[in-house]
Amino acid sequence: MDKSTSIQPEKRPRVVLGGKRGAGSVFSPLATQRIYLIVESVGGGESVSDLSPFRPHREIMGILGGECKISKTKRGVMLEVARKSDEEKLTKMKELGGIKVKLARDTYLNTSRGVINHKDLRGSKEEEFVECIPDVISARRIEIKRGEERIKMNTYVLTFDSPTPPSEVKAGYLPVKVRPYVPTPMRCFRCHRFGHGRDRCRRNIDLCVKCGEPGCDRSYKCLNCKGDHPASSKNCPKYLGEQAILRYRAHNGGTFGQARAAVVVEVAEIVRTGCVGRTCPEGDGPRDSTK
Ligand SMILES: [Zn+2]
Ligand SMILES: [Zn+2]
Ligand SMILES: [Zn+2]
Repeated sequence: MDKSTSIQPEKRPRVVLGGKRGAGSVFSPLATQRIYLIVESVGGGESVSDLSPFRPHREIMGILGGECKISKTKRGVMLEVARKSDEEKLTKMKELGGIKVKLARDTYLNTSRGVINHKDLRGSKEEEFVECIPDVISARRIEIKRGEERIKMNTYVLTFDSPTPPSEVKAGYLPVKVRPYVPTPMRCFRCHRFGHGRDRCRRNIDLCVKCGEPGCDRSYKCLNCKGDHPASSKNCPKYLGEQAILRYRAHNGGTFGQARAAVVVEVAEIVRTGCVGRTCPEGDGPRDSTK
């Protein structure tokens, strides 16, 4: 039902960022819920993000009478509010800084994914999760291939209508723990850098995944870290750093940029040492069991 990312069974060491769980932990699974709104100008013309930041800020504060995180995005201005009542007040706004605008929830930032696994879910259908669990907007069952056979696992990836997934859901009468879904870092198959796909690559020549050259010189040299391994290596420190950012985002929501900024020190340490160090007590990636 949701094919945007591939599943990532994690066999490698897992990172703990920020130490202990609890207050201030970057892994607190239920980070305060937020609502992300995009303010776009209507009818073409000047974009709100091109305005001097003072007037939009003053006007938004005037409406809310309090703090609101405001940032610039490609589409316009992004507002981050904590309450639905704030969203309602803002949605009435028809103009910002003299420009006609419309507000909409950002689909990507206001949704999140979580993984559930339970042997008693072997007879469940994807539709049941969507129909019966509030806030679940899509569900996908994990299947693996063994030879010609496709085996249905008791694992499901659920998409929630909230920036971070809940820690538990009730599948009918059955309470099931939810682990945040951590997607696999996206690597370009043309230049092997992270964060874009081949169709959006700006290079015009394919580089070798093993040696990083246009033609193969048969020795290993990673394009991302210059290490002695192919760019596809799951042990590449750059890959591990990228994964740490995605893991932070899976637990805390927000943009990739915010997640990167939050774990910048940890990621630099992973890239420097090539080691993720401590292991994660809970684990993140989907784990399957057919038992
Ligand atoms: Zn590329
Ligand atoms: Zn090569
Ligand atoms: Zn590497």
